[in-house]
Order: sequence, then C-alpha cells, then structure tokens
Amino acid sequence: MPFLAHRFSESIPRMHSVLKLVAKEAFAVWSLLVIAPSTVTAQATLTVPVPIPEAKPTSPELTELVVVHQGDIPILISAPHGGTLPIDGVPPREGKGLKAGPSGFFTGRDGGTQELAEAVVDAIERKFGKRPYAVIAASHRKHLDPNRPPEIAYEDQDAKPVYDRYHHSMQTFTTRIVNDFRHGLLLDLHGQGSKRDTVFRGTSNGKTVDALKGRFGEQAIVGEKSLFGLLKQKGWKVDPDPFDDKEQSGFTGGYIVKTYGSHNAVGLDAYQLELGAEYRSKAARERIANQLADAAFDYWQLYLNGLDQESN
Ligand SMILES: [Zn+2]
Repeated sequence: MPFLAHRFSESIPRMHSVLKLVAKEAFAVWSLLVIAPSTVTAQATLTVPVPIPEAKPTSPELTELVVVHQGDIPILISAPHGGTLPIDGVPPREGKGLKAGPSGFFTGRDGGTQELAEAVVDAIERKFGKRPYAVIAASHRKHLDPNRPPEIAYEDQDAKPVYDRYHHSMQTFTTRIVNDFRHGLLLDLHGQGSKRDTVFRGTSNGKTVDALKGRFGEQAIVGEKSLFGLLKQKGWKVDPDPFDDKEQSGFTGGYIVKTYGSHNAVGLDAYQLELGAEYRSKAARERIANQLADAAFDYWQLYLNGLDQESN
C-alpha cells in the first residue's frame, strides 16, 4: 500500500508543526503532561482541556481495516485481535528475533471478538440511549498486532498507517472523554484459549485502574460492585475469584490498557477482558453483549455518572 504510506509520511511534518504551535500556546498543560510522572497525582492535577490530536488523513482501505465509532458517553470499546482481513501488500509477520508469548510475538486471532465488540456497541446504545466510542481492528493479527508497541506490532511499513489509525483513534477518544467527563471506562476485548468458561481480568493488578482506586478505594476493583463483581452476579465465571487474588500470569493486561489506563496523565480506567470460547460464540454473542452492557451501565452509575453531572 505505498500510496497510503506516502500520504501518512506527508502528514507527519504537518502534525508536528501544529503540535509545536499548540504546545507553545498551552505550555502549562503540555509541560505537566510531559514532565509529570504517570501516577494518580498526575491525573488529579491534570488541567483540562487537553489538546486533541490533529485529525489524520484516511482512506476507504483504512476505514475498513480499523472500524471506529464516535461516542457520546465516557466508555471506549477496543478489540485489536478479532479481525480477518489482509492488509494490501503486507505479508504475514515472521517474528524473527522476537520473543514469543503474551507480551511478545503472537499471530493467533481472538475469534469472535470483532463481532462481539460490535454487538457490545449496539447493546450499550440500546441500554444507555447513547453510543460508546469504539476502535475495532478488522485486519488479521498475522499482519498487524495493535496490542503491542510498534517494534513488535508490524514488520512491513505498509502496515504502519493501519497501526497509526488504531492508536490515533484510541488517543483521540481517550482525550475527548477526559476533556468531557474527566473519567471514563475502557474495555479492551480479547479471547483466550485456556479456559472456555472463564473471563480473566487484566489491569496489571490494579495499575491501569489507578484513578478509580484513588477515588473509590480497593473495593471498586475487587468488591461485589466492581466491574468483575457485577459480571459475576450475571453468571460469568471471572478470574481472579476470589477477588483479592492476583491476576493470572499472561492475562494481566497488554499494551493497550497500559497505554490508555488511568495511571497515565491522560487515561481511562482500563480493563482487559480475556474471554473464553463460551463468551465469544455466535450463539452467546447477544446475551454476552447485553450482560456486559448492563454491567457497564451499573458501573457508569456507580463510578462515572455522578462525576459526569458534577463536571458539566
Ligand atoms: Zn488478544
């Protein structure tokens, strides 16, 4: 896809010059973001609005390869591994010199998660009467892995615009939610093949939901009214369970929750959901999507809606 690569390389100097301009005008905000350590203190002292990343050029191919939905509530759905499409001109990745495994090189897709993510978007819209933001990869993981840093994510430069669209969208939506609502919920949907009946929670053992913990305490993450507590009440088999156990090694959360989690100066309370096969089948899709939307609604009322009212 040399055409796309060309368009993006052209856009980069423009973006930098605009960012420089914005940085000069809003030096206080930017210096805070750049200098402040990634702790809850950084978020507590954050000055909003934070500059929104400049819009990037797109194309029919790119919009097909990364599906994005604009939202109007502080919820962002991400699904990086469910896609099936090739990327034009990009051969399968080989992973030469890369470590394999949960945070390294892996090309297996999380079957059913692209469709589930779309079903969750629709279910949330039915439940809330408003839409969540969403970023969903339609490209196959063998060509590109959006849940990794760039050096592991792709090997062919023609995959870079697809990767950039995923993360530019995530960054833009995260910033919008922080500006409009201050706090928000990120659900990063994945599939695991080790336990069919189980959903593993990945928050780096609480790190990526640091702001929630700071505002509501440990029980908001591990208690009955935590997100996974609410899901358990709907009949989901969740791990960790009991809730004070450590998260399962290998499922503690990847690049996306670490990049957009609320331990960052600009971030959302971020959960990686590693769904067993029983939660991703076609037969279960609507039920699971509705249950997740219901839990997200309770979560929104408990942890987001009140703050929404205050901040507006
Ligand atoms: Zn995955």
